Amino acid sequence: MKKIKILGAGLSGLVAAINLSKAGYDVDVYEKNEDVGMRFHGDIHSWENWSGNKNFLKELKEMNINSKFYCVPLFKVIVTNCSKTKEIKSNQPMFYLGKRGPSLGAIDHSLKMEALGSNVKFHFRKTLPLNEVNIVATGSIENEVTGFVKEFFSKQIQRTTWQSLHSTTS
Ligand SMILES: Cc1cc2nc3c(=O)[nH]c(=O)nc-3n(C[C@H](O)[C@H](O)[C@H](O)COP(=O)(O)OP(=O)(O)OC[C@H]3O[C@@H](n4cnc5c(N)ncnc54)[C@H](O)[C@@H]3O)c2cc1C
Repeated sequence: MKKIKILGAGLSGLVAAINLSKAGYDVDVYEKNEDVGMRFHGDIHSWENWSGNKNFLKELKEMNINSKFYCVPLFKVIVTNCSKTKEIKSNQPMFYLGKRGPSLGAIDHSLKMEALGSNVKFHFRKTLPLNEVNIVATGSIENEVTGFVKEFFSKQIQRTTWQSLHSTTS
């Protein structure tokens, strides 16, 4: 059986690992952190669903992903410049709110469980040189500017998604 080594257990690495394993490859994933999704702490992310014709969840199914995770469709957004507001509605979900991180219900955790069920082997707290792996899925290159944007975004996302969740449940 052909061996495949993947560097990075983010969404890209996990989806690649699941598919290759289901296709009959012997897959090893090397992740520098102690678990998947370690830079997220149960954060709620929004997965936009308007820029293509395909539904985000259907697209995942087409990628052979069967994981179940916390995911709430939103059909309405309110745009404001603080003096005027406009409500935009859609019959199809405009985006989904989903949980990130290593804990139960998060997409990262669910993909890990699906990968384990497909016999993918994880090597946490381990890395390999790039020339020793078949797939590099280590995410975007970080610098100080994205570091600043990330911090700003985490705070904004926590606040805005709470409001969105509140509006769906009220
Ligand atoms: C704060 C924040 C909020 C975001 N909000 C949203 C959102 O609301 N909606 C949305 O669609 N997207 C959002 N994103 C972007 C989204 O998280 C990324 O697009 C997605 O996670 C990219 O997945 P990836 O697998 O390519 O990379 P990553 O998620 O970066 O995964 C890379 C993995 O590789 C590991 N790794 C890195 N280097 C090594 C190495 N040398 N050896 C071993 N392992 C290594 C990392 O630890 C990590 O687990 C957000 C990102 C951040 C940071």
